[in-house]
Amino acid sequence: MFTIGCHLSASKGYLDMAKTAVSIGANTFQFFTRNPRGGKAKPIDEADIKKFHEFAAENGITKILAHAPYTLNACAVDEGIREFALNTMIDDIKRMEYTPGQMYNFHPGSHVKQGAEVGIELIAAHLNKVIYPEMTTTILLETMAGKGSEVGRSFEELRAIIDRVELNEKLGVCLDTCHVNDGGYDVVNNLDGVLEEFDRVIGLDRLKAIHINDSKNPFSAHKDRHEKIGGGYIGIEAFERIINHPALRELPFYLETPNELDGYAAEIALLKSLYKD
Ligand code: FE
Ligand code: FE
Ligand code: ZN
Repeated sequence: MFTIGCHLSASKGYLDMAKTAVSIGANTFQFFTRNPRGGKAKPIDEADIKKFHEFAAENGITKILAHAPYTLNACAVDEGIREFALNTMIDDIKRMEYTPGQMYNFHPGSHVKQGAEVGIELIAAHLNKVIYPEMTTTILLETMAGKGSEVGRSFEELRAIIDRVELNEKLGVCLDTCHVNDGGYDVVNNLDGVLEEFDRVIGLDRLKAIHINDSKNPFSAHKDRHEKIGGGYIGIEAFERIINHPALRELPFYLETPNELDGYAAEIALLKSLYKD
């Protein structure tokens, strides 16, 4: 089954997001747990969560993906910023447990001149403080484009983080098509090779979600600027191969393209028309 959705504004709550998703032809969605620039999250409304679960069950929504704020940097130089990242993620996971068994994606962090090695150690230490045995949420590390000092620019860096986390059965990876193409993984001309490499370095069983974005920049640009599907350097033929690839086709796909709701509806319809049942 094709599981496709897009990033939605979380301002009106879970039921509203689910209704919006259905209205644009989606059967999943991504949302920010709080303002993407950081700050306090709205308190969880348990009545809203209950209605969301009912609506989701009636409408075939089985997966949702939360995205951590961009300001969360688990490997910041400043200890205060690292502590903020820790408290934010602990609170986010508490919120995620109201929708058990779902996924929470974050950008591993930026090491800012400390070097990737130090960054990897700090991110793993952060995760070791967040994850607990009863947690039902899967935390996803996002593949990054490698702009600035981003950690997670290669499959090896993600593997190094996973290896240092004790309860790493709670960890997965979210592959962003724009980021990996910008990061030097050729998903246009060598999708099989990229996925073989992912499997060899990380293991395809860790791959839990796809951010499906075209890129404004050419292969290996290390830029991270998303483009509408078919409007960038990845192109529609590559996306048709991506959504139908045997290793990917059962995963949930999330658009983070520069669109309003009508644009997302059109991209979802386009991708559905390319998906081979
Ligand atoms: Fe992201
Ligand atoms: Fe992304
Ligand atoms: Zn991005």
